[in-house]
Amino acid sequence: MNADMGMVIPPWALSEQSGLLEAAVGESGLDRIVVPAVSGVVRSLRLSGGQPETFVSDAGWHYPADASRYANTRLKPRLARWFGGRHPLESAAQRAAQRGIRLTLRFDLLACASAQDWPAVRRKNAWGQERPDRAACPMNADLRQLLDDTLGELEQFDPAGYEIDDWCGALDGGAPPLTPLPLCNSLLDVCFCESCRQAALGAGVDAESAARSVRVGLEAALKDASSPGARRVADDAMIRAYRDVRGAQQRAWLERVAARHDARVRRCRLPAGSAPAGSATGSSRAGWAPLIEYTPGDRGTFERFPAALNVAFWRPGFADAAALVRFVRALADAGVSYVDFDGADESPPEALDWLRQALRYARRE
Ligand SMILES: [Zn+2]
Repeated sequence: MNADMGMVIPPWALSEQSGLLEAAVGESGLDRIVVPAVSGVVRSLRLSGGQPETFVSDAGWHYPADASRYANTRLKPRLARWFGGRHPLESAAQRAAQRGIRLTLRFDLLACASAQDWPAVRRKNAWGQERPDRAACPMNADLRQLLDDTLGELEQFDPAGYEIDDWCGALDGGAPPLTPLPLCNSLLDVCFCESCRQAALGAGVDAESAARSVRVGLEAALKDASSPGARRVADDAMIRAYRDVRGAQQRAWLERVAARHDARVRRCRLPAGSAPAGSATGSSRAGWAPLIEYTPGDRGTFERFPAALNVAFWRPGFADAAALVRFVRALADAGVSYVDFDGADESPPEALDWLRQALRYARRE
């Protein structure tokens, strides 16, 4: 199996005492560690140390971002406060480099949506209601600048790749899935924030008409997904035009970002339900390819999207080591080329043995 294998280790679990970084090196069969440098609110029960320990953090930048790099950015990085005077990324990057393991860095757009005083970056639904529970809208110019500057700052750690969490719209092909509940979700997620509306108007698309179509279609779909009104919305030309404008502008921007930041691998992490059709073949758009969230027990996920997966490798997804071994072999058979194994910090040390075993079998094939 030649897939590129990574293990997600959050910054608060990168210390030498946790031993996770060291466990990812050598005989483990892993190529990379994946570090969420910027994330949403954290509530985790850590088991990796052997004893349960809760860890709580504000959303934000999990390293002391250098203010001088953000002089021209209207929104400034918000530091998560748990790390005090330390620089978790710097020391981890050094240790990773010394041990010959690569580093992938993640930026989660949820980090920005939950900030109380940044309402403009939040997605808005077709009723104009803000969505602080969803990732920030990447059509917002201030958010883009902040993301761009953050990637610029992260370059000092010489990452092998970047992953952006929850950038659904960027890879949006415009066609919503046809099953009933995903249709509702996909309509709820069509963003009508000021930036999105302006982009649509600039391209000659009537944002208000699109919003009206979404409201009418969604109400019909929620009552009865098989009603004519609900079926019509799946094919609504106005909604399609609106989504296409956003999709095209986001791809164009991502392309520019890709050209500016010289990482070799770039991925946008998406839940399977919002994955675009193109991800079924693993096609890369604008230099960024999708990374699909594996739903425990849903073997169909990688059969539908045999490209790149994020997989929580402990319970409840897998009952024992043998189950994980079988799963990783099935990934290899399906031609999955990129996997992030997630949840190391919230699993007991035994989980690492499972993973080692699974990777050893898969590499032998
Ligand atoms: Zn928007």
